[in-house]
Amino acid sequence: MRFYRPKFQLAALQPPQDRLVSKLGGRPWGFPQSRWSICSDCGDPMSMVAQLEHALPMIDLGVPGSVLHLFYCANMLCMSYGDPTSCEAVVLRCEEISSGLTEQPLNKDGEQVVNDEVWIAGWGTHDDPVTLQQLPSFYHDQAHRKLPEEIAHPYDFDLGWYTKAGGAPYWTGHGVTLDPSHTPFPPFELLLQIHETVYLEGEVPVEELVDNSINLFEHTSFDRVAYCVNFANLGTGTGFIFIDRSSTPPLVRWHWSP
Ligand SMILES: [Zn+2]
Repeated sequence: MRFYRPKFQLAALQPPQDRLVSKLGGRPWGFPQSRWSICSDCGDPMSMVAQLEHALPMIDLGVPGSVLHLFYCANMLCMSYGDPTSCEAVVLRCEEISSGLTEQPLNKDGEQVVNDEVWIAGWGTHDDPVTLQQLPSFYHDQAHRKLPEEIAHPYDFDLGWYTKAGGAPYWTGHGVTLDPSHTPFPPFELLLQIHETVYLEGEVPVEELVDNSINLFEHTSFDRVAYCVNFANLGTGTGFIFIDRSSTPPLVRWHWSP
């Protein structure tokens, strides 16, 4: 099996967005305001976690021209905070995408939580150490716990490998956090996973260049110079996004877990 790791650019260092760009955080491009996800529990407009174009072989949305939007309730006082019910996925056709950035509606306190923004500039291709035969064990907690440690947790929990598209879901220390009654495998399989901390190559940007509010810090454990951005608050965890391409249109379900 293959998987793909995105190469990120800090949006604050790019020219103003003038087209659809696959990205994490920020505001969506051309998203119909009427389709904005609202939390069914607290009533707050959700925050965007990602806007991703169908792009083979990395992001296979099943239908060319599709664009995936991930939203979650960022209200930490919400009773559903952290539940799969506070995570939504909206797949649109590119004809439904208009032009310009869409503002997130304000909540009842007149506030909004907009995640920090990184753009996907390219992808790296990797061979998954998990084989196709081992893949089903990644969808059942008991089977997963019986796997050898180096297979169950490839790359030894290194967060740099927790944001990737395709392959097996790399679960955190909580094991398999997928509810098989809601998201059965098959037909659902991993589309991608996103850790709240993403890695960018290069020196930490000069402070004056970026908004001070961006949560970034130097990272030294790679051989290359890199820095990190905590682009969202996913409980210091990872979002796991699954797709059923046998449905028309394809179904996407996701949740995040520490
Ligand atoms: Zn909520």
